[in-house]
Amino acid sequence: MIEMKKVFKLYSNGVTALNGVDASISQGDFVYVVGPSGAGKTSFIKMMYREELPSKGQVYINGVELSSLKHKEIPFLRRDVGVIFQDFKLLPRKTVYENVAFALEVIEENPRKIRRRVMDVLDKVGIKHKARFIPAQLSGGEQQRVSIARAIINNPKLVIADEPTGNLDPDTSWEIMKIFDEINSSGTTVIMATHSKDIVNQMKKRVIAMENGQIVRDEQRGEYGYEA
Ligand code: ADP
Ligand code: ADP
Repeated sequence: MIEMKKVFKLYSNGVTALNGVDASISQGDFVYVVGPSGAGKTSFIKMMYREELPSKGQVYINGVELSSLKHKEIPFLRRDVGVIFQDFKLLPRKTVYENVAFALEVIEENPRKIRRRVMDVLDKVGIKHKARFIPAQLSGGEQQRVSIARAIINNPKLVIADEPTGNLDPDTSWEIMKIFDEINSSGTTVIMATHSKDIVNQMKKRVIAMENGQIVRDEQRGEYGYEA
């Protein structure tokens, strides 16, 4: 589903964040991306939803080369990819319900269907009972549940998460990780940059380790492999 061929990313400040990355990820994979800060993890995953373009090399999603997408085609890619961040990025003045419904880009869908879809997804991530709350009234773990709901509302084939448990305590991180595991069980590809060493070591998923803009390790049922 995702192919990267000799991908380089050179930012305008002269930093080389990706230094010849080759990667291949299949539909249904669950991949942890690990490595020290500054290794290139965020840049690597930004390539997959065209948040950044490679300076050199190619990124393909289901055979489509992302650099070749026209501007008006980008929303169609984004609809197939759900993205989750460490800091949730919820709209502060909207309720939980509105934050999730907002992302439902269905045209000609009747309001009752939208309502059912939003409530289904809120139920799936365990936050349905707080549909009328605003983000400031929720704990960090609850806010992350909402942002996961928002990311999966369009049934994306790919879910990308950049340190989704970075602001959460260990117990809450585990709860969030279980939700990602369930999403993956239904066939959705999950790619997650993380520093959660214990979780990576216990989950025994594929691990891609990065250092200095390169993939230095790629193991099925891998381990975190760093001290912190
Ligand atoms: P990681 O997620 O592993 O911490 P990043 O991909 O965020 O790594 O960063 C890799 C390198 O690229 C770092 O040196 C970082 O400072 C630099 N970098 C990241 N984003 C930008 C940017 N938008 N402009 C300039 N440099 C950047
Ligand atoms: P945690 O300790 O896990 O971060 P909090 O102490 O922030 O959680 O919140 C505990 C519970 O109280 C959560 O379910 C949250 O939704 C609810 N809560 C927190 N602040 C408010 C508020 N201002 N209004 C309504 N509910 C709130």
